[in-house]
Amino acid sequence: MKHFTYVILGGGVAAGYAAREFAKQGVKPGELAIISKESVAPYERPALSKGYLFPQNAARLPGFHTCVGSGGERLLPEWYSEKGIELILSTEIVKADLASKTLTSSADATFTYETLLIATGSSVIKLTDFGVQGAEANNILYLRDIEDADKLVAAMQAKKDGKAVVVGGGYIGLELSAALKINNFDVTMVYPEPWCMPRLFTAGLAAFYEGYYANKGIHIVKGTVAVTAVKLKNGNVLEADIVIVGVGGRPLTHPFKGQVAEEKGGIKTDAFFETSVPGVYAIADVAAFPMKLYNEMRRVEHVDHARKSAEQAVKAIKAKEAGESVPEYDYLPYFYSRSFDISWQFYGDNVGDDVLFGDNDPTAAKPMFGSYWIKDGKVVGVFLEGGSAEENQAIAKVARAPAAGGRRRGSQEGRTRLRCQSLNFSMHTHFILWTL
Ligand SMILES: Cc1cc2nc3c(=O)[nH]c(=O)nc-3n(C[C@H](O)[C@H](O)[C@H](O)COP(=O)(O)OP(=O)(O)OC[C@H]3O[C@@H](n4cnc5c(N)ncnc54)[C@H](O)[C@@H]3O)c2cc1C
Repeated sequence: MKHFTYVILGGGVAAGYAAREFAKQGVKPGELAIISKESVAPYERPALSKGYLFPQNAARLPGFHTCVGSGGERLLPEWYSEKGIELILSTEIVKADLASKTLTSSADATFTYETLLIATGSSVIKLTDFGVQGAEANNILYLRDIEDADKLVAAMQAKKDGKAVVVGGGYIGLELSAALKINNFDVTMVYPEPWCMPRLFTAGLAAFYEGYYANKGIHIVKGTVAVTAVKLKNGNVLEADIVIVGVGGRPLTHPFKGQVAEEKGGIKTDAFFETSVPGVYAIADVAAFPMKLYNEMRRVEHVDHARKSAEQAVKAIKAKEAGESVPEYDYLPYFYSRSFDISWQFYGDNVGDDVLFGDNDPTAAKPMFGSYWIKDGKVVGVFLEGGSAEENQAIAKVARAPAAGGRRRGSQEGRTRLRCQSLNFSMHTHFILWTL
């Protein structure tokens, strides 16, 4: 049995950022351990569906260990040993007893702690979860961790220039389709929804991406539920050397079931990421936390929140120990994706009325367009394709700006008129936003 003051369960994005924050806060050698099912130190998971799959100069570890993704120091395995932080890898925790503060691994090792951070992330939803016939076939692949990515790379090499079917039209499906295409595969995307990424994209936004992908030679079959990876409900059969499924994830909470309050499929926390069990924190994908900006509980499965929630929890833990406090987590949702030569960013909430701006012509040489969402007279969310760093900062500011405090929209008093001139394109006329 091993005992630690702090244990981070999970060795992904949030674990890396939490470890860095612990180090900043002066954690002592031997106090902190990360226990991870994976065999490598924490890394920036988004790389797996992007640079990791490039046919040339592909990203490989140690290149993308945390915390490079946010422009920080790259924490190599040596960094952890220098700080006296124990990395307990290739170790799956199968049982958690929060009452006795004990974790048990599949190999029957036990670990005890004083403070626990649950950072177990999500597991992919598999076709087998829907009872799909033939879903066990070994050319059906998923992508959550580096082992999955290595299987995909091996399959791409084994089936050079083959046919690939990508099931799912979310951002993973879109990024994977692009990666397979640049690896010279004949790619078909299949998804049941009327357009890709319906959870975020409006029909106008999706029209661009579907057109852009079609121009790249990617076939799209939509509105058709894939009942097997290759046989569609409408009777069509798609041939494939590789089938890759990206239909979403589920928060990995099962070791804690019945021991901790849950909400929105995740583990319920306060604004400091402490759960209903004192001394047990849940961060990143698994946490359902109070989103101050919208005054409701949310769960967010994006890398920016993984990083920031990890830092917030560690700051809160250390402050509490010192009898102090930190401000509540006040998060502005941020999400991005990249594929081919295009990339977009989104800030805020995609609720209310949406307005498309700019030119969403998929054949444009340098596409630049977006959408904003207005609720109760205020812009609450902004999506921008092709923005510069400065322009992306501008849209974040707009999405974060408070409502006009009861004053009528359009009055001059106390207002900055964010004309987005810097955004320098035809959306200009549409996209005149007022923020306080
Ligand atoms: C392929 C891919 C691409 C992505 N791209 C983007 C993107 O472009 N933009 C974006 O905003 N977000 C993206 N995301 C989402 C983002 O990566 C996640 O939100 C983020 O990784 C969540 O961090 P986390 O620490 O909660 O979970 P993870 O990073 O998934 O880490 C969880 C860790 O816990 C370990 N674990 C789980 N259960 C156990 C157990 N019982 N015992 C031991 N270890 C355990 C796992 O093995 C893993 O190491 C992407 C995700 C994937 C999979």
